[in-house]
Amino acid sequence: MYNAKAYSAASETSPLASTTIPRRDPNEHDVRIEILFCGICHSDLHSVRNEWSATVYPIVPGHEIVGRVTEVGSAVTTYKPGDLAGVGCLVDSDRTCAQCQAGFENFCPNLTLTFGSPDKHLGGVTYGGYSESLVVDERFVLRIPSNLDLATAAPLLCAGITTYSPMRRRGVTKGKKVGVVGLGGLGHMGVKFARAFGAHVVAFTTSPDKTDDALRLGSDEVVLSRDAEQMQKHAGSFDFILDTVSADHDINAYLNLLGVEGNLTLVGAPPKPLGVSAFSLIMGNRSLSGSNIGGIPETQEMLDFCGEHNITADVEVIPIQKVNEAYERLLKSDVKYRFAIDMASLKSE
Ligand code: NAP
Ligand code: ZN
Repeated sequence: MYNAKAYSAASETSPLASTTIPRRDPNEHDVRIEILFCGICHSDLHSVRNEWSATVYPIVPGHEIVGRVTEVGSAVTTYKPGDLAGVGCLVDSDRTCAQCQAGFENFCPNLTLTFGSPDKHLGGVTYGGYSESLVVDERFVLRIPSNLDLATAAPLLCAGITTYSPMRRRGVTKGKKVGVVGLGGLGHMGVKFARAFGAHVVAFTTSPDKTDDALRLGSDEVVLSRDAEQMQKHAGSFDFILDTVSADHDINAYLNLLGVEGNLTLVGAPPKPLGVSAFSLIMGNRSLSGSNIGGIPETQEMLDFCGEHNITADVEVIPIQKVNEAYERLLKSDVKYRFAIDMASLKSE
């Protein structure tokens, strides 16, 4: 065991602050990674502030991790010191259940999340990527294509896979009209993927100042969602809508934009239940679904796709000392479009 520098929150009302945390020495299948960048996902904020009522303190958030391998266990075959490596939301699972066998470790009943899950090795809970290093079983380490810039690649590990997976599953391709609701970390990746898959992309935003960016990021059209007239123009016309909104909102306004057999997939996880009108679904045989990140094989597929198509996030790089300020800005939808923490800033703590 060794101590690593990190940032943690001690309670739902405490700011994130400098600390040290225990990390295990690499076991035979483990890889030790020096963390270079970690994205700030809105799930980090929901968790730090206990908005989903499931947080164990102290919490070290962060599950959009990229770094460099510094040490490998004796049985590791896929990574060596010096390799680039990524870690997303998962660091372990039972590997034997039907979901694991099918590559959906994200649905394993015994999965270990990168932060906040029981830690099988050290006791307590797992600690995430707001830290200088972490130790992970090689099976949960992702390969980062060498042509991608590391700070902008970090958000692919959560925002990327969470938007890529449902779009792939729902057949987002050329000829489909696709909406993306909320232009934050997830939403801006959703726009990029829908564009790359060849769909006609419409971005929905509450922030008028994001209009030009929405077009630049790959939208064909932008709708200011608080303008009822603009919304009405698209009534009954979408094949698929991805809802990435992190806060309470009227989901019926978007269900009503779906065409016959259209699907709205929720990836946003607002703490309060959303009110769904039965008629929004009944009229037109519409469906409402959810989607949770993706498994390890699909996450690697997404990263390789991003390497081939040169897709990464638009990030604002910050030192870790600005993390609390960044959370306040995230709450105000004031980030274009993902914060990435430069972990070298932790060295001065
Ligand atoms: P984010 O960067 O804060 O983006 C959320 C966007 O939603 C904002 O930029 C804003 O876009 C819009 N929004 C915020 N408040 C709103 C309101 N009151 N009404 C309408 N729109 C509002 O967050 P994120 O990191 O992309 O995460 C989004 C959500 O997905 C979070 O709840 C997060 O926990 C969840 N999540 C789920 C998964 C999964 O596996 N399902 C994975 C990662 C994250 P505009 O300014 O364009 O309106
Ligand atoms: Zn996330």
